[in-house]
Amino acid sequence: MLALRMIAGCHVELGDFRAAYQEMVDFHEAWTLRRSERSEVVARVAHAQYAVDEAQRTTERFREMAERDALTGLWNRRRSDARLAAALDTPPARRGPVSVALLDLDHFKLINDTFSHAVGDVVLRRVAAILAEADGHAGRHGGEEFILIMNVACAEAARCCEALRAAIHAYAWESVAAGLSVTTSIGTAVLRPGDDAPAVLRRADKNLYEAKRAGRNRLIAE
Ligand code: GH3
Ligand code: MG
Ligand code: MG
Repeated sequence: MLALRMIAGCHVELGDFRAAYQEMVDFHEAWTLRRSERSEVVARVAHAQYAVDEAQRTTERFREMAERDALTGLWNRRRSDARLAAALDTPPARRGPVSVALLDLDHFKLINDTFSHAVGDVVLRRVAAILAEADGHAGRHGGEEFILIMNVACAEAARCCEALRAAIHAYAWESVAAGLSVTTSIGTAVLRPGDDAPAVLRRADKNLYEAKRAGRNRLIAE
């Protein structure tokens, strides 16, 4: 293309404007062709980039789905186990205090039996929404049990869990079903040196059991 333009220039110098014009016509054709080829390449690259971005978004969506509980949208058991394992793998000096709370809805089977399984599902979703507001990792541990992993020591964990217990108790459950009331029992434990996941969960579960035994709708903190 450069040559065509230079030749056109030479023709002009020699006063042969007809030849110069022909060279410029050829130059223009070549230039137009090149420009359309280029924009086609640019379009193809943009399309490929979009496909890559879309694939990344899909992967991200599937990864998120694989770690979420379908009913409540909270983290699922697998993700909570990984979160706890990561806390246990980090030296205490680097991660600071970590507390674990297990929450279990009281007489939930009775709620299902009295109000229907569908109402039970709504209860699980509303409780999950309350827990999702808490500062920490909120997961559905199974059935009507939830887990909270918080980067705080026991006193602060107890304060937070007591607020959650009160919030669940005070929620306007009548708006879900006439006569419905929901309470939860909670047990907490703090990560200690030498703990593994079963050990800390066992202590939290023991406190949860104590809370149930002591009459439910209460917190037993470590
Ligand atoms: P407690 O106060 O001792 O914990 O009594 P509970 O009735 O809450 O405990 P139990 O283990 O006897 O019953 C738990 C019930 O939770 C039984 C099960 O059908 C119900 N459940 C588990 N998963 C779901 C769910 O996804 N949706 C609904 N609606 N119910 C569920
Ligand atoms: Mg239970
Ligand atoms: Mg229960």
